[in-house]
Amino acid sequence: MRIDIISVVPELLESPLNQSILRRAQEKGLVEIVVHNLHDYAHDKRKTTDDYPFGGEAGMVMKCEPVFELIEKLQSERDYDEIIFTSPDGITYDQHEANRLSTLGNIIILCGHYKGIDFRIREHLITREISIGDYVLTGGELAAAIITDSVVRLIPGAIGDEESALTDCFQDDLLAPPVYTRPADFRGWKVPDVLLSGNFAEIEKWKETQAYERTKQLRPDLLEKLE
Ligand code: SAH
Repeated sequence: MRIDIISVVPELLESPLNQSILRRAQEKGLVEIVVHNLHDYAHDKRKTTDDYPFGGEAGMVMKCEPVFELIEKLQSERDYDEIIFTSPDGITYDQHEANRLSTLGNIIILCGHYKGIDFRIREHLITREISIGDYVLTGGELAAAIITDSVVRLIPGAIGDEESALTDCFQDDLLAPPVYTRPADFRGWKVPDVLLSGNFAEIEKWKETQAYERTKQLRPDLLEKLE
C-alpha cells in the first residue's frame, strides 16, 4: 500500500508517522508513506499556497493551482483508489472506514489548513471527505495521522500478533474485553480467576460476555446497530 499525504506543515506529521508500529511497517515494506510539502508546488517567490477568500470572509483559503499540479503529477505516476480530504463536514471516520481503506492500493490524503480549501478542489479532485469528529482542528495533519495510523495497523504483518487487530474494539461492533498482565494480585486487586484457569473455552466465553456487557453499558448504540 502507498499513502501520499499533502500538507503545508509537513513537520506536524514527522513524529506520528515514524515511530513504533508505523515505522516498522514502513521498514518491512508493508506500506510506503510519502509526505509532500505543498509549498514546493507554489510558483511565486514567497511559495504562496493560500489567498484571500472571495466575498470578504475572514481567514485564508488554500489555492487550486498547487493542489491540482501535485495531485495530477501523482496520478500520472500511478492509479489512486481514493483521494481523501480531511474535513469537519466529511463522513465521520470509524473502524469500518479504516478496514475499507486498509484494503486499497494507493491513496492520497490532502490536509486542509487555514479557513479550508477552494471548493473546486473538493468538487473536481477529491473522492472522499473524512471527518475525525465533530470538532474543528487547526489543520488536517492530525486527522491524516489518525487515519494513517489506524489503517496501517490493519495491514497483515504490521502488528506482531496477527490476530490482535481483529480482536480490537469495534471490529465486530463490540468493545474489547478488559485485559490484564502480571502480577495476578496487585495491592489485593485480583485478576479474574477464569483468566488463570487455563480453560480456553471458559476464557473465550468470559471474553465474549465481557465484551457484550461493556458494550451494553458504555455504547448501547453499537448493539442497536448489530441488531
Ligand atoms: N472553516 C472550516 C474549518 C477549517 S479548519 C470549516 O468550518 O469547515 C482547517 C482544516 O483542518 C480543514 O480544512 C480540515 O482539513 C482540517 N480539519 C479541521 N477539523 C477537522 C476534523 N474534525 N476532521 C478532519 N479534518 C479537520
